[in-house]
Amino acid sequence: FGGTVRVPMGKLSVAGAKRLHFLLGGDLVQNDFNILGMPLNLETSVKDLGFIGQKLEKRIKKLEIETVEDLIFYFPARHDDLSVITEIKTLVPEQIATIRGRLEIINVRRSPIRKKILTEAIVGDASGKIKLLWFNQPYLGKIFKAGDEYYFSGKVSSGDAGAELISPEYEKVKDEQTHLAGIIPMYPLTAGVSQKQLRYLIKIALGAVGQITDFLPESVKEEYRFLDLPSALYEIHFPECGKGLERAVARLKFDELFLSQLLNRKLRYDLNKKSAQTAPFKEAETIAFVKSLPFELTAGQRAAAWEIIKDIGTAHPMNRLLNGDVGSGKTVVAAMAALNVVLSDYQAALMAPTEILASQHFGTIKNMFQGLPISLGLLTGGENRLFDGGRDTAITRKEFFKKLSGGEIDFLIGTHALIEDKAKFSRLALAIVDEQHRFGVGQRKSLRERVGQEGFTPHLLSMTATPIPRTLALALYGDLDISYLPEMPKNRKPIITKIVASEKRGAAYDFIAKQIAAGRQVFVICPLIDPSDTAGVKSAKEEYEGLKRIFPSSRLGLAHGKLKSKEKEEVMSRMKKGEIDILVSTSVVEVGVDIPNASVMVIEGAERFGLAQLHQFRGRVGRGEHQSYCLLFTESRSPTTVSRLTALLGAKNGFELAEMDLKIRGPGEVYGFRQSGFPEFKIATVFDYALIKKAAAAAEEILSKDPSLESFPLLKQKFETHLASLHLE
Ligand code: ADP
Ligand code: MG
Repeated sequence: FGGTVRVPMGKLSVAGAKRLHFLLGGDLVQNDFNILGMPLNLETSVKDLGFIGQKLEKRIKKLEIETVEDLIFYFPARHDDLSVITEIKTLVPEQIATIRGRLEIINVRRSPIRKKILTEAIVGDASGKIKLLWFNQPYLGKIFKAGDEYYFSGKVSSGDAGAELISPEYEKVKDEQTHLAGIIPMYPLTAGVSQKQLRYLIKIALGAVGQITDFLPESVKEEYRFLDLPSALYEIHFPECGKGLERAVARLKFDELFLSQLLNRKLRYDLNKKSAQTAPFKEAETIAFVKSLPFELTAGQRAAAWEIIKDIGTAHPMNRLLNGDVGSGKTVVAAMAALNVVLSDYQAALMAPTEILASQHFGTIKNMFQGLPISLGLLTGGENRLFDGGRDTAITRKEFFKKLSGGEIDFLIGTHALIEDKAKFSRLALAIVDEQHRFGVGQRKSLRERVGQEGFTPHLLSMTATPIPRTLALALYGDLDISYLPEMPKNRKPIITKIVASEKRGAAYDFIAKQIAAGRQVFVICPLIDPSDTAGVKSAKEEYEGLKRIFPSSRLGLAHGKLKSKEKEEVMSRMKKGEIDILVSTSVVEVGVDIPNASVMVIEGAERFGLAQLHQFRGRVGRGEHQSYCLLFTESRSPTTVSRLTALLGAKNGFELAEMDLKIRGPGEVYGFRQSGFPEFKIATVFDYALIKKAAAAAEEILSKDPSLESFPLLKQKFETHLASLHLE
């Protein structure tokens, strides 16, 4: 140890080294690099915050961060408590610890054997000394200064001369720490952006936090003893203590829930003043329709259909949620509602979140309505079809819109293309939204606003596959009406779910081969479309090629989000007709796809999906009379993965699974949460029941005092921006 410091990276100026250091994720709270005397506004662009190159700016943009305000509202996924400082002499191997000490010696050299660049340091505190070691980070030699005091944090290992810290994180001791020695924010990242960079930028941005207006009425803040908004925003990033963090989280969750409550209640309030078309119950036709079905309706389907049919027979606009787990048979209930509307000579519309699903519904409903004098339209990004008088034809978009506004299409099925400006109905009386959680509030609202006839508002039926318990749903959505499908159709066999270890892969393939030989079909879901660098993560394209070799005599198909809608549709329709044995796909088949002959669902990289999402995938099989299986492949042996996936083995509904996931992994770590059927919040979740109730009560109270919100100008303004942002979704 000792000797001269050699930095084998050419002649780098100190400023250059600092800049490089920052780009590599180092700390940089040097005055000369701070925003150079510029006034800091909420609108200030991140690129004006000192040293941000174009590359970093671009990467940060991926996180939807462009301004100071975006930075302030970029919340941590979690915090690590690094506030405990350990004395050097008490360190033990394998311990993860933070120390505070003076840097006594720093040395950069090339390792004689593997030619790695080693940065070595000796650090001491009152209790003793320890050696620190970094590999291939020569610039550290310029960053550290012997004699200065630093915090270091990392895993203790045992070296030749006792305990060592290998590649510890570091931060100079300052009046206020950002990265170590405190409760430290950990942000969701994207490639090429480090925690240090984000913390650095956010800390600067928080200089403007005082400019954020606190829109919450004083009475509400007082009643629930909430922090004011700027303090909460500061504390959510850099909390003084655990208690402060808790209060910050409560305030910010409340804000979200409160705004959503206000919105729901206001919509309801406005709705109550409007009137809808009345479609009287077509008893004989409905009975005939039910008789024509190849199955018997469940009691739940009958009850729900009756509730809906009663609603649309009144002039009061229906606002009903049809709640039923995957496979419970919601589509036919929706069809019965549409039937009644259409037979009264009004139009109905059904909006689905994907083209695959929209065209599937079109096909299903075409079958169900066979022989009835009902014309159906299919409208997606890539297709406009008409089914009329027993003929299914593609027509031009122009012609399609003309027929729609002329009232020649009775029941329009489609994707969000339905809410395009050009799609005009002549007498829309019922709007149905399938998998409603996949649409923004704004999208649902615009479907409803497709008024066909002056002065009328269509009835709205929303369908969701994640059965939120009734009390929670009521608190969450205000006084929305809810129908439940509590049971599955008869004769459904429970799906057998298995976690397959890698050494059992061969046996699993044998099993799949037998299923195919018996005439069944198989889904294989992969986390990615294209091959990636991430070791062990399967992509649909690779898997497709690989399985072709393993199952040479089977017919394989490939579906993913990058295919053109025509191609996707073609693959799905071949799968539906039984012309594909194994469909390799990404999560595009997640929602709603219905292929009763499919009996095996294989999920690769299962640990990469949320539990509720896995439950949705599993729901793609077991929809017919065949015993079905869900095989979860995972390379991960982490205890978290095992306990999460094990949760799937018991029969659980999507709601319970999502709650479990949240408990096991913590918020912010739950991928696919949005896809799982819950209203989307940034920080709140549907499991914050106590806060939801408070938010509901507060929203109700404010609206009862002043439904126009005129006497709460800040709230009114916030509400309007919120509303506008929803419309832009
Ligand atoms: P989801 O509620 O998930 O949207 P679907 O409406 O797609 O479910 O129905 C799932 C499958 O169950 C479809 O193949 C449908 O034809 C079938 N199905 C619906 N209702 C019944 C029933 N009462 N008995 C038997 N099968 C049914
Ligand atoms: Mg469905």
